[in-house]
Amino acid sequence: MSMGSLLQVQLQNIPASGWHWHGKFRAADLQDDSCGDIAPLPHGCSDADWDAVLEHKGGCYHLGGRWSISVRCTCCRCNSPVEHTISGNMTRVFRMGSCDDADSDDEDVLPLPGQINLVDVLREEIWLVWPQNAVCRPECKGLCPHCGADLNRASCGCAVDNEDHPFSVLRNIVKQ
Ligand SMILES: [Zn+2]
Ligand SMILES: [Zn+2]
Repeated sequence: MSMGSLLQVQLQNIPASGWHWHGKFRAADLQDDSCGDIAPLPHGCSDADWDAVLEHKGGCYHLGGRWSISVRCTCCRCNSPVEHTISGNMTRVFRMGSCDDADSDDEDVLPLPGQINLVDVLREEIWLVWPQNAVCRPECKGLCPHCGADLNRASCGCAVDNEDHPFSVLRNIVKQ
């Protein structure tokens, strides 16, 4: 079986005992733009651990399991790269049929034969918990809001008045 076909599953082919995976998604696939429809991950991530079960229950297909991956994101204060390990529990429900049949927003309705791209599923799960507020270290001083200097390396000549004042951001906007 080629790597491509391992990453695509068809609900129609699922055995009564379901499908169980315990393995890894390659970083190269998660970062490959041609490997799915969901935005690829930025370079620098690890392979993802993936432990999941896909079962046919009550007319629906339940995909549940756990995943974890180390990703490279950016410090929200100074923009330097940060390695972050993220993980999640996923619970997805799929059904085969036409889109008009959807009972709720909680399930994905797929046309026959119910093709699922597992790379896209995992990418969606990862983007949902993508670290937005990561910091390179708790004491990171960030960039100067006036001149952009990295305050971790050097102080700049800008006045340091009211840095924490809630309206200091507005003041910057007015200046421009
Ligand atoms: Zn930082
Ligand atoms: Zn400055």
